[in-house]
Amino acid sequence: MRILIKNCSIITMIEPDDVYSVGQIEIEGDRIAYAGTVRDTDVKFDKVIDGSGMVALPGLINSHTHSSMSLMRGYGDDTALMKWLKERIWPVEEGLTGEDVYWGAMLSIAEMLRSGTTAFADMYFFMEEVARAVSETGIRADLSIGMVSVSGDWKERIQNCKSFFSEWNGEAEGRINVSLGPHAPYTCVPDFLALVSDLAGELGAKIHIHLAETLDEVRQIKENYGKTPIEYARDAGLFEHRVLGAHCVHLTDDDMRIMKEYGVNAVHNPQSNMKLASGIAPVQKMLDLGINVALGTDSSCSNNNLDMISEMKSAALLQKVGLMDAEALPAVKAIKMATVNGAKALGIDDSVGMLKAGMKADLVLVDMKKPHLYPQHDLISNTVYAAGGADVAYTLVDGKVLLDDGELTGIDEERLYFEVDKSLKRLFNR
Ligand SMILES: [Zn+2]
Repeated sequence: MRILIKNCSIITMIEPDDVYSVGQIEIEGDRIAYAGTVRDTDVKFDKVIDGSGMVALPGLINSHTHSSMSLMRGYGDDTALMKWLKERIWPVEEGLTGEDVYWGAMLSIAEMLRSGTTAFADMYFFMEEVARAVSETGIRADLSIGMVSVSGDWKERIQNCKSFFSEWNGEAEGRINVSLGPHAPYTCVPDFLALVSDLAGELGAKIHIHLAETLDEVRQIKENYGKTPIEYARDAGLFEHRVLGAHCVHLTDDDMRIMKEYGVNAVHNPQSNMKLASGIAPVQKMLDLGINVALGTDSSCSNNNLDMISEMKSAALLQKVGLMDAEALPAVKAIKMATVNGAKALGIDDSVGMLKAGMKADLVLVDMKKPHLYPQHDLISNTVYAAGGADVAYTLVDGKVLLDDGELTGIDEERLYFEVDKSLKRLFNR
């Protein structure tokens, strides 16, 4: 399939401010054949998209979420974290079936494709159901089974990860990668993390873990082990592997030095950190030190949506107000976190994250022909500060048009709502 997107503006993300005000993108199969100024070509295209008034940017990468928790969106908001988990979330999760997880993931994938996300890193259970949803819908994903060590059989847990890895890693035309998901320092003891680390070495897998999210966590790890969560994860051997460290809110200077030394990828989740009153991650400082910081939404329970465009805005604003510095985290760095840095964190930066020839055709078109997006003095500023996920008109993954002029091509939304309602009825007795 050959696709031409003509007369669009392009934010390539190859270099900061590398923007074409009018350009075109040519796609051949799953890859970008050309992205640049308007040119004549003899190629016969199967599909032509008129990108007039639209801006193309690399598909957004949500580097930390729990997609199936969409089923609990808005259930018990404005409650302290532990109370909310104990009284609301965990009782519902106990009743979840594989089918619920599948439809919860489907709901999130529909939302992500509609708002310009082309890849996501997910941690939850019944992950084979999420893998099935990813495979069927055409989105890209990095999937990990969430694991805790407090109860159950560790060996069985490790074996499940191994089976999930061998069944799904590299599947769905290479769109699925499998990582290992030990939940957090406060839910996984050192001996268990050592087993996870060994398995990561054996499989060559990444590790996706929550790190230093709250002051409570820092206090607890300090009390029990005399270490910070970052030191704890390092000493358990996790940093010998590629790590996606979700949150990284409460860090010492030494923690950041360790993260830099081991190449730990931080994933910033500003809206979740604000909603749960976790704190303000030192994003500007980490970036200045050369730590790779990606962007995520966390689940739609603590956000409450998966809109990566509004997440970029929140990331920029939160640094500014936290540092009392209007120049902190400018818009272009926020886009970089959601594209280039996300690709790097997920280990797929050789094929996605920028719009240039040879890269996979994972891209989105934001429709700027709207009152809130006029005028266009600065396309990057408009995209981060004025646009929202609902302004995305086209989303392509692997050269396939998954959102076509506002219509999802691979998901039947009527069926989706029907199936989600069925799950909700059972889970919430409605
Ligand atoms: Zn999380």
